[in-house]
Amino acid sequence: MPEEFKSLSNKFLKVASGVILTNDIDDVIFALDPYFEHFNRVRWVVSGLRTPDKQLDIIIQYCVSKKVQYNFTINDVDTKNPDGTYVWQLAWSTLLDKGLLINPPRAAKCLGTYKHGILINPSPHFRGIAFDISSSRDPNGNYDPTQTLNQIIEVAEYAVEQNSDIGIVSTQEERQQDCLHFNCESEG
Ligand SMILES: [Zn+2]
Repeated sequence: MPEEFKSLSNKFLKVASGVILTNDIDDVIFALDPYFEHFNRVRWVVSGLRTPDKQLDIIIQYCVSKKVQYNFTINDVDTKNPDGTYVWQLAWSTLLDKGLLINPPRAAKCLGTYKHGILINPSPHFRGIAFDISSSRDPNGNYDPTQTLNQIIEVAEYAVEQNSDIGIVSTQEERQQDCLHFNCESEG
């Protein structure tokens, strides 16, 4: 029997199809629903558990849209050049230089000008303890410019104020993706 996640029955903070849930993020998304109801705001969780190869796929898509040269596939998460860098590391660094702030599939140092030489950790999404809420888009691609990131921050702050045990460790704005990122407690 597949596990039933509570948050799939949410009425206000809904989970888009294709989002992979874990128990840790399901608890928080479920607990947030009444607070989105309180503000009468319907919003969508657009990202949950991700994998390193899915992350590399996203990097490839950005390379295509930003016309950044790349020579690897999603199967090259652990493939390295003779100099010890990952085959995707330079292209990923170039995306950072272009302002696309995206986590690497593995911990890696930036090779470009942005944070040159600094080690960036892979996404907490890989550990199943993070999710993203889109500020202004639904899964059908509809865009509502009256919906803002600050409206989600407002709900999140209110929720933590009302229930400090809700399981939210921190939030982070992802302006490029137009999302609010949530880091959650791990039940371990
Ligand atoms: Zn995120």
